[in-house]
This record gives sequence, C-alpha cells and structure tokens, in this order.
Amino acid sequence: MTDSLLYFNEKLNQYFNSHPVFLFSKGRVGLYAVLKSLGIQPGDEIILPGYTCLVVPSAFLVLGAKPIYIDIDPSTYNIAIDLIESRITPKTKVIIIQHTYGIPCEFHEIQQLAKKYGLTIIEDCCHAFGSEIHNHRCGRLGDAAFLSGQWNKPFSTGLGGMLVVNHTELAKRVQSLVDKELIPPS
Ligand SMILES: *Cc1c(COP(=O)(O)O)cnc(C)c1O
Repeated sequence: MTDSLLYFNEKLNQYFNSHPVFLFSKGRVGLYAVLKSLGIQPGDEIILPGYTCLVVPSAFLVLGAKPIYIDIDPSTYNIAIDLIESRITPKTKVIIIQHTYGIPCEFHEIQQLAKKYGLTIIEDCCHAFGSEIHNHRCGRLGDAAFLSGQWNKPFSTGLGGMLVVNHTELAKRVQSLVDKELIPPS
C-alpha cells in the first residue's frame, strides 16, 4: 500500500474505533470478501431489501447464494422489518441492512432476529458514511459493513470500497482471503 492509502486506512480504523477496515476496489468486492470468508455456500439464502443496487445480489450470486428480497417501508426507504421473520428459513445465513440515502435502518429488532436464528448482519453503508442512530455509528451495528467510494456516493474517493469487520475471528478470515486471493485492480 502507498503511504496515502496507509494513512487513509489508519484514519478509517480510528473512525470505526480501531476495528479493522479493509480497502477494496469497490464496495461489492468487500461484500464478496466477507461473504466468502463466512463460508457462504451454493443454496444459502441472503435476505436483503428489494430496493438496492444491482451489484449487491451480484456479489453473492457468484457464490451460488440466493437473494431473498424483502419489500421496503415507504416511510424510511429501508427494509420493512416486520416482513423479515416470515422469510427466514433453515437456509438463511445473512441479513443485509441498507441505510438508504443515508437514513439509518432501525437495528434493534433485526439484531434480535439475527440472534434468535443465528444469522450474520451485514450493513450496506454505501450511502451512510457518517450516519448515526441512537448514538451508534452506521458500520458498527452489525457483524460487518461495506462502503463504497464511487464518484456518485456522498463520500467519494473516485472509486473504491471499504469493509469494516466487527469480529476479530471474522477479520482474521478476511485477512487471510485478502492475502491469498486479492488481485489489485489495474
Ligand atoms: C453504489 C452502491 C453499492 C455498490 O458500490 P460499488 O462500490 O459500486 O461496488 C452498493 N449498495 C448501494 C446501496 C449503493 O448505492
């Protein structure tokens, strides 16, 4: 990494309270990396809001996982929380919560569902760098979070993606995947 990237990475680690932040070429690559590190298998189901970016399901269709779209709440643009539980099956592994337009998604009930069914929460923070809810910073509400630095996002690095991992064990697995498989973009 260049000095400026190292500096950027260090600032991000500080901002997310020293939790490891991994840098990628795009947000979707961070999502793919964390899902692969979680051991997502063909046939696994991933719950996500129906109103999202096309590349979000693409990042796990390549792993053979199945998107389970949940409608959004028109008053928040975020996933309709009361519709989630009925769509959970024994194959469900992950819930993706997206803070659409930077409006934080209510997370308490989703955390309870994740606990009850043993699911991983991944936040899509592509619109939400700097958003907070009930004094909690977006990016720290789930097990991991991905952000995009694309030119059309509120926080832009031109292109680029970031992955915040809130568990030491998972972070180790992401690190070893990065060490083994990451090819820097041309
Ligand atoms: C832009 C965007 C992404 C993807 O980010 P990339 O860096 O282009 O991979 C994912 N989710 C949402 C909500 C987005 O707006």
